[in-house]
Amino acid sequence: MPPLANRDPDVLAGSIGGGFFDLPAGSVKLACALENEARFDEAEVQFGGSEQLGTMACPLTIARGARSNVLSTRRARAIAAQLVGASVEELAGLHHFGPEPTRRRSPALFLPRWTQAGRSLGIAMPLSLPSTLSPSKLARFVQCPLAFRYAHIDRFPEPSSVQQVRGTLVHRSLELLFSSAQGADRTRERALQSLSTAWDEVSESDEYTGLALDDVGSRRLVDDAAVLIGQYFALEDPTSVHDVGLELDLRTTLGGVELRGIIDRLDDLGGGELAVVDYKTGRAPPPDRSRSSLAGVYFYAMLCEEVLGKRPQEVRLMYLRDEIVLAESPTEQGMRGVRQRALAVWAAIDRACAAEDFRPSPSALCKTCAFQPLCPAFTGAKPTADEATAQRPG
Ligand code: SF4
Repeated sequence: MPPLANRDPDVLAGSIGGGFFDLPAGSVKLACALENEARFDEAEVQFGGSEQLGTMACPLTIARGARSNVLSTRRARAIAAQLVGASVEELAGLHHFGPEPTRRRSPALFLPRWTQAGRSLGIAMPLSLPSTLSPSKLARFVQCPLAFRYAHIDRFPEPSSVQQVRGTLVHRSLELLFSSAQGADRTRERALQSLSTAWDEVSESDEYTGLALDDVGSRRLVDDAAVLIGQYFALEDPTSVHDVGLELDLRTTLGGVELRGIIDRLDDLGGGELAVVDYKTGRAPPPDRSRSSLAGVYFYAMLCEEVLGKRPQEVRLMYLRDEIVLAESPTEQGMRGVRQRALAVWAAIDRACAAEDFRPSPSALCKTCAFQPLCPAFTGAKPTADEATAQRPG
């Protein structure tokens, strides 16, 4: 079975040691994806990593999960012996990738530890600004600067959730419905066929396999997605929609920052007028917060104006679960406000990076925040002397 048949048996044994993800219908896939391994091998050949080990000048720790059957103690010590001042640390009870035999959570567990170790050794580790600003990044920073830092600067991976995967499934199904059928062919039956195709794709993704759902959980996920797609038809008639863009990736540079957004759907309303459409699979906000929930689609409207030279006549949020549509017509003042807010938030991110000052902002969102185990608001960790100085007002 290629490509396994082409793999050296010893190397394949190492990959198998990384464990498996369960897939629907009882099959499995290697947690240690062969395509990733091929990239590592390619980098090793290109940069001669093994030959360069003796030139490393910074202090290093070779961390080895004591239950790893991928990196032996002997091999870890042999690597350390080639380095100046390196040591081997055996991490009791851990696999090659951490507490689970996968690589999903290991960066979040270990990076803060090594980063802190680097700081205590006086190694300069400046924070880098993210390369782009999107509506979701902007909202994340405003909600909690520390969660923003963990997600978009440290890039600690976040485990996926059932809600996220369901959202991906519904969005992809609707994209397929619009891209594969026109006019009267955009029926409920066609939408369910699209869901089936989308499920084939999503069920192979790391986002889904990381959930480790059993058959009942997977069935419930797909059934719920089917309900949401059915409810979509209560909100609009897709046979009369003239879409001119699906999953449209728009970028523009403003005030030195690249603003980016991926628009679910851009419609031609006739007469050269456009509408930005965004699907939501979560709950609709209470009426007193409905205006602020439109911030993301206003951002998309601003991108349309910058990139396409045309301000959309309408921005529309479609809450499939509650069967609610929120729509507005963006004004000149509204567009100016979006630009000013984006630039102000970017300036705040820039300042926070320069001062390494990203503070926790506890709220109801903490309940679902993957960074709780790292967050001082939950661990009770006191800031270091440097952090305390940086956070002192004035
Ligand atoms: S747990 Fe709460 S305060 Fe801490 S990083 Fe997450 S959202 Fe922010």
